[in-house]
Amino acid sequence: MGRSALSQSRRGPQCAQGPQNDKVVCQLADCRGYKAARLSHIRTIMHRRDFIGLATALPLTLPWRRALAGQPDQGTAQTGLRWQAPSANGAFDAWLGGFMARALAAGWPQDLLTRELGGLTPDPKVISLDGRQPELSRPVGDYIRKTVSQDKIAAGQARMYSLTFWPAVEARFGVPREILIGIWGMETGFGAVMGNYDVVRAMATLAAEGRRQAWAEAQIFSALRIIASGQISRDQLRGSWAGAMGQTQFLPETYVTTAIDFDGDGRKDIWRSEADALASAANLLVKGGWRRGEPWAREVILAPSFDYGLSEGPMQLPAAWSRAGASPAGALDWSLQEARTPASLILPAGWTGPAFLVFANHMAIRTYNNSTAYALGVGLLADAVAGRPGLVTPWPMELALSLSDRQKAQSLLGRLGFYAGDLDGVIGTRTRKALRQWQVSMGRPADGYLTPDLIFALEAAGWGMPSQPSPSLQAWP
Ligand code: CA
Repeated sequence: MGRSALSQSRRGPQCAQGPQNDKVVCQLADCRGYKAARLSHIRTIMHRRDFIGLATALPLTLPWRRALAGQPDQGTAQTGLRWQAPSANGAFDAWLGGFMARALAAGWPQDLLTRELGGLTPDPKVISLDGRQPELSRPVGDYIRKTVSQDKIAAGQARMYSLTFWPAVEARFGVPREILIGIWGMETGFGAVMGNYDVVRAMATLAAEGRRQAWAEAQIFSALRIIASGQISRDQLRGSWAGAMGQTQFLPETYVTTAIDFDGDGRKDIWRSEADALASAANLLVKGGWRRGEPWAREVILAPSFDYGLSEGPMQLPAAWSRAGASPAGALDWSLQEARTPASLILPAGWTGPAFLVFANHMAIRTYNNSTAYALGVGLLADAVAGRPGLVTPWPMELALSLSDRQKAQSLLGRLGFYAGDLDGVIGTRTRKALRQWQVSMGRPADGYLTPDLIFALEAAGWGMPSQPSPSLQAWP
């Protein structure tokens, strides 16, 4: 996911796209979990009364208009609650009753609430997928090799010139088609795997579970708005277990704020209209800060003397990076667009792997899914589809680190006085910074990238240290 502080960015800077973001677990991503469940083809059985078709048939009466405009309607709120039999899950029923009472009090029409939420039951598959914690963190190179596959590149190339809407989408939003193809391929394999969960039920399940209640309830309200608009029926409102819908996997809230009817048929149909889905994705990137005419990244070759501690630092122009020892990879010098665009330097697989200057558009891609690996996947797929040369430096072959390995590294960094954060195994910005500081103190390449070798070295350095750092150890650089 995920993705700029847009509606998809409900979980803050750590994991911008909520559970939709759970696609990638890598040492770069500050997000947890994965969204493999998005790929599930399992058809969700709907345990609810089926009122399909009624939504579109109902006239837009005053309470409806008030509700759609977000205004309370006291008349409706005073009518009380009546809905279908409880689900036999006490916690879920308690949440559902509370949610419906709150919605009614806020002016949402009772007939809409009872029709769409009455008789709803939690989806056990969503609960189990949401609770899954990946044991191994996948090295970014493995992830890229798998996601930027020859099959996917060929499928993307087949869509470069065959779709008639590309020139109009590019002209309006300034996002090149290959970037949108990269997102399309990464999100759903070009519409092949869009998810078949009843999004309202999946979001209700997550809301009742509680960990992301506010986020999930916002998605339910947005889903109700979509149904009430008459454009998309409840039966069509399907997506991943985490609520991502359609060809380009929009959350309901993002659909409401950002989806576009680009083919002009009067419906924002991101499921069946490729033009609507891809224009909507372009609109999301623009809202996320996409800059027309600017590149997303450029691979660089680092001089042996390069100071790896400059990675993940401030942005500067490529000419300044050249002076620091980072030159453009391949035969071509900086392009005109690159030369005038500030960039920061990242080492996604550490100092032995490829290095990149990433421009502002890299962060715009992360509006979708706030993970460096995801944005690299989109960008590298886009470059391959557009026929640009591949990477000069290969991804290193790496072993995956287990959760306990990562927690041990954090614990050792803490014991050595460099880290005071949670021992959660998430190798985020804070852990990488601590690692860099320790590497500097040891005269090692300060790439902030955790490897099995580094864990051994940390263990050796931490040998015999007390489990709680003493004041003198905390003062260690
Ligand atoms: Ca349309």
